[in-house]
Amino acid sequence: MELYNCSLEELWQRLEKGEVSSLEVTRSVFKRIAEVDETVGAYLEIDEKRALVQAEAADERRRQGQEITPVTGIPLGLKDLLSTAGLKTTCGSKMLAGYRPEYDATVVSRLREAGAVITGKLNMDEFAMGSSTENSSFKPTRNPWDLKRVPGGSSGGSTAAVASATAIATLGSDTGGSIRQPASFCGVVGMKPTYGRVSRYGLVAFASSLDQIGPVTLTVADAALLLGVIAGHDERDSTSVDLPVADYYGGLKNEIKDLRIGVPAEYFGAGLDPEVEAAVRLGCRQMAATGARFEDVSLPHTDYAVATYYLLATAEASSNLARYDGVKYGFRAEDADGLIDMYRKTRAQGFGDEVKRRIMLGTYALSAGYYDAYYRKAQQVRTLITRDFDKVFAGCDVLVAPVCPTPAFAFGEKVDDPLSMYLSDILTIPVNLAGLPAISVPCGFTKAGLPIGLQIIAKPFAEETLLKVAWHYEQMAGWSGRRPQLAGEAV
Ligand code: GLN
Repeated sequence: MELYNCSLEELWQRLEKGEVSSLEVTRSVFKRIAEVDETVGAYLEIDEKRALVQAEAADERRRQGQEITPVTGIPLGLKDLLSTAGLKTTCGSKMLAGYRPEYDATVVSRLREAGAVITGKLNMDEFAMGSSTENSSFKPTRNPWDLKRVPGGSSGGSTAAVASATAIATLGSDTGGSIRQPASFCGVVGMKPTYGRVSRYGLVAFASSLDQIGPVTLTVADAALLLGVIAGHDERDSTSVDLPVADYYGGLKNEIKDLRIGVPAEYFGAGLDPEVEAAVRLGCRQMAATGARFEDVSLPHTDYAVATYYLLATAEASSNLARYDGVKYGFRAEDADGLIDMYRKTRAQGFGDEVKRRIMLGTYALSAGYYDAYYRKAQQVRTLITRDFDKVFAGCDVLVAPVCPTPAFAFGEKVDDPLSMYLSDILTIPVNLAGLPAISVPCGFTKAGLPIGLQIIAKPFAEETLLKVAWHYEQMAGWSGRRPQLAGEAV
C-alpha cells in the first residue's frame, strides 16, 4: 500500500519500528498531492519545501533519540483559518489574500513542537461561513467521492484532503458543524471537542462563543492521537479550560457494555433522507450488540436551534469582522476618497456575498431597537437548548444521531438559497450552542456511492467516552478507511 494511504496510527507505528522514514512518507504525500489535488482542489497553499525540511528534522529527532510523539514526522494539513507564521492564512477570503501572520496559532505551535510536518493550508468557506466550501473566494473543492458534488463545509478542504489522501490527517474548525458535516460528506472521521478543550489562540475568529478546533482523520484512533497533541489549557485563550488531558488513545478499547445511549427523536424528523436514516439506525442496532443500552430521548427545543444559531453566530461575526477595515490586515481598496470611503470600498470589495449577508444580519440583531427581540431572545433559547442536553445526559452517557439530513449535494444546488443551506445545519448546531463534544464516524454509503456519517454526542469534557464509543462502533461497522476511486486511477 502506498504510504499516503496509511492511517496516522499505522505510520506512527511504522516510524517507531524504523520501517519507514518521515521523508519517505512526506514525499509520498506530495506525490499524491501532485497527482490528484488539481482535480480535488483541497489545498490553497502547498508548502512542500518547508515540509521536506520538517520531515528531515523529524527523522533526525528519531535518530538522536529525542522525545517522539504520535505526530512526529507525520504530514498534516491545516484549515486556512489557523494562523501560521510566514505561511499565508487567507480564511478563504479575498480580504486576507496574501496575509502572512507573524505568529503560529497555539495548535500549530503544539504540532510543530510535537515534530509534525505541515503540508499546507486547506480551502474553506470564506471566514468559515457556509456548508459547502462554495463560498471560498478562491476556488471550489470537489468531493472526492463524486466530483460533481460539494465536500461539505466549511472545512471542506480539510475533509477532502483526508479522503483523497493528500494529507494523513488535518485540522478543521467547527462553529456550527463545520468539521462534522464535511467529514460525513467525505467519508472520514471529524471531531468537534468540547468548547474550551482546545485553545483558539490564533484561530481567526468567526463566532467566538462557538468556534472550536478539531481533528479530521481516517479513523477514530487517529482522531484520539491528534486530539491528544492539540488539547489542553493555554494561558493565551481565557476560554480554554485547565483540565487534565486524558490518554484518549489509550482509553479507546475500554469496555462500553454498561453505557446508556440515547436516540433523540427530534433528530430523526421530517426531511431526513431515508438512506441516511437507514444507515444510522443500522449503526444503532450494531452498537446495541455490544451490550450498550439504547433508549429514546427528546430534545424538545431542537426546532429553534437554526434560528438561534444564525442570530448569535452572525451577531458575533459582525463584531469580529469589524477589524477588516483595510488598515491593519490584507486587502485595501484603491481610489478611495478619504478614510470612510476607504473603509466602505475595502469591505464592499473584500468580502463575498455570504459574509456581507451575515454582517448585516448580525448588526441588525445587535442594534439598539432589536437587541432584546433578537440577540437577547436567542441567548435565552440557547440556555433552553443547553438544558435539554443536561436533562437527557442525566440518564444517558452519549447520544447517537445523523450528522446531516442528506448526503453531499451537487454544486449550485443550495448556494443561491441561503435558507435551505442554513436549515441543513439542524443536526449539528445544537451541539455548538451547548458547547458539547461530538464526532462524525462513517456509517455507510447511499446507493449512489455517497458516504453517510453517524454522529455521537457526549457530555462536556467527556471526549474519552466519546472516542471510546466511536472506536467500538467503527470496529464493528468497518466503514472507516475506505478510499474513493478518483478519475484516472487504476481500479
Ligand atoms: N454551516 C455553518 C455556518 O455557515 C457552519 C459554520 C462553521 O461551523 N464554521 O455558519
